[in-house]
Amino acid sequence: MSLLRIEDVRKYFPIKEGLFVRREIARVHAVDGVSLEVNPGETLGVVGESGCGKSTLARCVTGLHPVTSGRIVFDGQDVTRLSGRGLKAFRRDVQMIFQDPYGSLNPRRRVGSIIADPLVVHRIGDARARRRRVQELMELVGLNPEHYNRFPAEFSGGQRQRIGIARALALKPRLIVCDEPVSALDVSIQAQVINLLTDLQGELGLTYVFIAHDLSVVRYVSDRVAVMYLGKVVEVAPGEQLYREPRHPYTYSLLSAASVADPDASAARSRVILAGDVPSPITPPPGCRFHPRCPKAQARCSTEEPLLLGVEHRAACHFPVEPGERLTGATRSGDRP
Ligand code: SF4
Repeated sequence: MSLLRIEDVRKYFPIKEGLFVRREIARVHAVDGVSLEVNPGETLGVVGESGCGKSTLARCVTGLHPVTSGRIVFDGQDVTRLSGRGLKAFRRDVQMIFQDPYGSLNPRRRVGSIIADPLVVHRIGDARARRRRVQELMELVGLNPEHYNRFPAEFSGGQRQRIGIARALALKPRLIVCDEPVSALDVSIQAQVINLLTDLQGELGLTYVFIAHDLSVVRYVSDRVAVMYLGKVVEVAPGEQLYREPRHPYTYSLLSAASVADPDASAARSRVILAGDVPSPITPPPGCRFHPRCPKAQARCSTEEPLLLGVEHRAACHFPVEPGERLTGATRSGDRP
């Protein structure tokens, strides 16, 4: 049974105007009908360009954003509209690691007290037990427990992200949503933090939802990968399969532009530069949302929304990329340089 089920989740943000009487004039369709499953112990990578809705989805999963509609089922229980004790218990099981290790730590507090926060909120242990637990956590994530009384500014970027990871682990969660956990870090530090997350997963049996825009990072950490475009999942597949044989033209174009470390697969793909910008999530295009930019678009694509079809490898496309096909068309830039 899956640990997490996201069922047709939508998250719309209203845009209001009016000085005295505020009325809704439009909606940002940040997440628009996403369904995904995450199995215990696996890592589901979620990729897409900035603004595709992946971070909003992460916040919906952790309960930081209430969903507009749909359900989030964790360990068999609908957690979408939990409150009181139920919500508190859910928050112990599901934690988040944030993108910005600088912004997510209060610079005026000592790291020991920052890491202990979840223990205090959930009233776990007395002061001495909490201190012991925090020092254990610091050791677990590769920090010196003797630095308990230091301030965040005394740590490097990678060490600060380790503080964020220690805080996320404090309550022994089962699921951690990692929202771009390494994108603010220097490339040389990224690998260390990713290796730490991978080691912790093996050691503690954690399940991850790993949000990122960097395809190489997602490939390295994920068992399965979901690709999002303008609030929707357009393709989901086991990592290797998706990188080797993308079926959705959007995934194909993302991979063709990325420096993903697979020379054979890269050489087999033509490079596709997408035309135009991502359309506005306030007025997403009808039919397939990708049709204004898609090198394979046909008349049907602008009227009929494609469903996410398939079993293990699913793609939402009327005319998916065939194995070995090299995309051509108006948006093709020519051969790989
Ligand atoms: Fe392109 Fe049509 Fe497939 Fe959308 S449905 S990705 S427009 S071919």
